Amino acid sequence: MNLADAPALGQPSTTALMHVTQRPDAVFTHGRGSWLWDSLGRRWLDLVQGWAVNTLGHAPRLLADTLAEQATRLLQPGPGLYNDRALALAQRLTALSGLERAYFTASGAEANEGAIKLARKYGQLHRGGAHEIITFEHAFHGRTLAAMSASGKPSFAALFEPKVPGFPKARLNDLASVRALIGPRTVAVMLEPIQGEAGVIEAEPGFLQALRRLCDDEGLLLIYDEVQTGVGRTGTLWGWEHSGARPDILTLGKCLGGGVPIGAMVARESVSCFAPGDQGGTYHGNPLACAAALAVLGTVAQPGFLAQVRERSRQLRRGLDDIAAELGSPPAVGRGLLLALQLPQPAQAERAAAALFARADGVRDGLIVNAARPERLRLVPALTISEEEVELALAMLRESLLGRA
Ligand SMILES: *Cc1c(COP(=O)(O)O)cnc(C)c1O
Repeated sequence: MNLADAPALGQPSTTALMHVTQRPDAVFTHGRGSWLWDSLGRRWLDLVQGWAVNTLGHAPRLLADTLAEQATRLLQPGPGLYNDRALALAQRLTALSGLERAYFTASGAEANEGAIKLARKYGQLHRGGAHEIITFEHAFHGRTLAAMSASGKPSFAALFEPKVPGFPKARLNDLASVRALIGPRTVAVMLEPIQGEAGVIEAEPGFLQALRRLCDDEGLLLIYDEVQTGVGRTGTLWGWEHSGARPDILTLGKCLGGGVPIGAMVARESVSCFAPGDQGGTYHGNPLACAAALAVLGTVAQPGFLAQVRERSRQLRRGLDDIAAELGSPPAVGRGLLLALQLPQPAQAERAAAALFARADGVRDGLIVNAARPERLRLVPALTISEEEVELALAMLRESLLGRA
């Protein structure tokens, strides 16, 4: 290697990476809890947390120990052999969800891909070949081609045509729009209890209850994509608990691994109709990832953990509502630690997120938040964020949005 080609210390080169998204000018090197540091020693309070995945914050001791221990025992026996971690995780997830069978993947999109395949197989076996899955405008289900096709994200519409057919789109919280799409080819309805990527838009509890009844009456499967809402994010273990309307198939990702890549599909026994050979994946059920998920679930399911999440949620929401009132914008939306603030000016959220990021200069700390829409700020902190850290985040938000802390 020619030393002249080596990047300057502290400023690694970015040119060898494919350019798929606009990233800020910082290279992150380490994190701890709610804090993240870059190669120049700048520090940020992180309320995005690896895109809503770091359940216990950055680099938690528990996951470091769990991964180190598992790495000395067994990394990957392969999908054709049972392993103790995957079996233990399946037991744990089915017990906690009230569903009976689990399948593990390496990402949320793959979990949804699996749910789509399972529903189509079910349709083949039990519904005369029915295969259409009703999904929703503005939904986000991931980036495999079928998951993109199931999504209702406007910017996906023209990408990578032709899409996978069979995903007619209804409008969220509009039961008539779902009913109008049901026909002999329909096998399932699939949705997020709270649309996260769309900017935190809740499926109303009454809507989920009505959907559950509609699916029962029509013999359709109800699939919840809880990749973003599952595993404590909304202040309860599952996002659907606020409605009490149970799914037939549940998909998970993000918070499940706490930063380690894993997804899961959990389903009722009567729906779990894959035959040997139908579904698989080299890393599916990987014990390293399953060990991480077991550690995360063990923590989130501990008595008092979710009460603490709800307490931080109330604190954050109160602060956001105060800011909203001063700005003349509506109160914060969302549940638990999946919250969003609507701002009065178009593009104001994008500008605020950029300014809060740029605040980090080596002396002052920055704040990482996400403009899920140009005018809507989304906050998805670690479920372990402290009371002081929430106050600090609110002070930085006030300074940026109201011009004073
Ligand atoms: C993030 C997300 C996905 C995709 O998960 P990946 O791990 O990125 O594949 C799917 N559905 C929802 C609701 C998500 O928020």
